[in-house]
This record gives sequence, C-alpha cells and structure tokens, in this order.
Amino acid sequence: MAAKADPNKQGWEESEFPILCETCLGDNPYVLMTRQGFGKECKVCSRPFTIFRWLPGAGMRYKKTEICQTCAKLKNVCQTCLLDLQYNLPVQVRDTALNVTNDAPRSEINREYFAQNIEGKISGAESLINYGKADSSGREMLKKLARTEPYYKRNRPHICSFFVKGSCTRGDECPYRHEIPEENELSHQNIKDRYYGTNDPVAKKILNRVKGGNGSNITPPEDKTITSLFITGVEDDIDEADLKGYFYAFGEIKSVVVVHKSRCAFINFATRASAEQAIDKSHSNLNIKEHDLKITWGRPRPTGPKTEVQAATTQNVVLPPLESMQIPAPPGEAPSDFLYPSQDPTYQGSSTKG
Ligand SMILES: [Zn+2]
Ligand SMILES: [Zn+2]
Ligand SMILES: [Zn+2]
Repeated sequence: MAAKADPNKQGWEESEFPILCETCLGDNPYVLMTRQGFGKECKVCSRPFTIFRWLPGAGMRYKKTEICQTCAKLKNVCQTCLLDLQYNLPVQVRDTALNVTNDAPRSEINREYFAQNIEGKISGAESLINYGKADSSGREMLKKLARTEPYYKRNRPHICSFFVKGSCTRGDECPYRHEIPEENELSHQNIKDRYYGTNDPVAKKILNRVKGGNGSNITPPEDKTITSLFITGVEDDIDEADLKGYFYAFGEIKSVVVVHKSRCAFINFATRASAEQAIDKSHSNLNIKEHDLKITWGRPRPTGPKTEVQAATTQNVVLPPLESMQIPAPPGEAPSDFLYPSQDPTYQGSSTKG
C-alpha cells in the first residue's frame, strides 16, 4: 500500500512513491507514476516538493499530489486528498474525536524551522498522530464514521463546465463528465483549513451528524403534518416560558408542553417550516440555562381510529428507568405511554374527532 512504502530511506522529497490513501491511488496496484522533482509549491507550507501524477484507473481523471511529504506525515494525511490515512476522514473530524491538539505551526518562519526539525523525528515513525492515546469512545466514533472501502467514484473526471452551460461541442469525445453538478462542498474548501482541521464544512457536517445521534431524528419526517419537536434533558428549572423564549425566534408556536417528571417537552409550531428551521438551527447546540438539551422530531400522528391508540397505550409497556429516557426511542418503540401523541395534551389530530 502506498502509505506503507517507506519514503524516509532517501532524503527530503526524494522518495520514489507518494503518501496516498487507497482511494486516491486507485484500484490498480501497478499504477504508473510520473515524478517531477520540486515541481510545485506545497499548498500548505509553500516549499517546493516532488509532484507525482498518475491515472487511478480506467475512466478516471489524472490525480496529483498537492502537499509535500513532510506536511502529509505531520498530520498523517494523504498527499492528494488530505484525508486521514487511517480513517479516511477529514482532519477536523479525526482531531475532534481523538481530542488531538493542533501543534503544527501556521506561521511562515516557525514552519520552516519546524519542518526541518521534524524531518529527523518522523523518519521511521509511521505517523505523529498517536491514535492509541485517545480515549476509546473517540476511536469508536472514528471507526463508525470511517469509510472502510476505497471510494473510487471520487476519482472520476470533473464535470464539464461547457456542458453545464449547455455549450459543449465535444460530445462523446469530451474527457469531462456530462452531468449536472451536485453541490460539492469539497470543492469550496480552503485546502489549508482542511489540513489544519479548522472551518471545514464537510467535517462540520459529519460532526453535526454525530452529535445529533443517528441522524434520522434530524431529517424532517416525510409526514408533512408533523410540526412538533421533542426536547429531552429538560431539567426542573427550565419552564414553558424559557422554551418559548428560545423557540419563538423560529416562528409562531402553537403550544409548549413541559413534562418535568420525564425531563422532556413538546414544542408545537404553527408551520412545518418553523419546526424545520428550529431543529436545523438547534440540534447541535441547544443550551438553555446552562443545560444541554437534545432535540428531535415529534412522533408521527396515529392514523388509525382512537380506540387503537388507546389500546396501544394501555398495553403492559415495561417502563425504563428515567435516566435511560434522555434519548427518545424511534417511532413505534415508545418507552412510555406519555410519548404517544395521543397523550400530548395539545395534540389535535383528526382521530380525536372520532
Ligand atoms: Zn508542505
Ligand atoms: Zn487520498
Ligand atoms: Zn464536455
């Protein structure tokens, strides 16, 4: 594997092979590389470095190294895509999960000194990132997020800008992809931000997904009639007025119901748009009176007749201890009867009309 090749046997940037992740390398292990000594400036440290170019498989676009080997080794990232070599994740995600402090210097003078100094230190060592030191929850999180298979689609040709404007005349001969582009955040990123793990929109997206639990709770439910949000972690000193005071900014609130016994609350918005905005803006950082609250979508309303709902609520549901109720169960697995929408005093579904 590319990353395992020992580039330290020779001197600075003299190595025969770049430090690459499996995806950037492509699926052909005998890939031909062209090598151009000190061909360009490293996009991180600005020192001239050896550029490698190769075709990572049939129908793919040529790839090249973007940062020097020292910079890659400092952060244990691929020289081309700058993703972590072990987990294939953005530096910001990795460093957040592992609680790694960012000690690579950013200023010009320090960097030159630091880079020279580090050359000696890294020879022999696989990486400066000490994954083992991180607590196990951080490593578990990375394992869950990590892409285990190489993602070769990332090596496809870029999209044809002429095609997008409707003016490509090359037809099948065109080496670029004739597709309408999806919004690709990777292309709008600053390479240094990605390297240093700051302000990386992709990392932020991934981290938000983690904070929000399994993610499906934040995704707006398909049932557009759902306009209520479910809040957990509602401590005794948080009351209706506190919740209203926070949520009114997102739109008209039909009702707020606090159930202190279960440390939860329902916020019912007048419109779906308000609810979507509220969860979008709050799911990763909802803090009221110095309590961290979790927010998810309310449950779908029952569609069956009232009697069915009543039957369901009177079943012998085994109640879990209160502590385990911080995170609501997915729909259909209500841990307690008050979580059924019919138990929500503000619920006004058609089924109550009989
Ligand atoms: Zn560099
Ligand atoms: Zn890569
Ligand atoms: Zn084209």
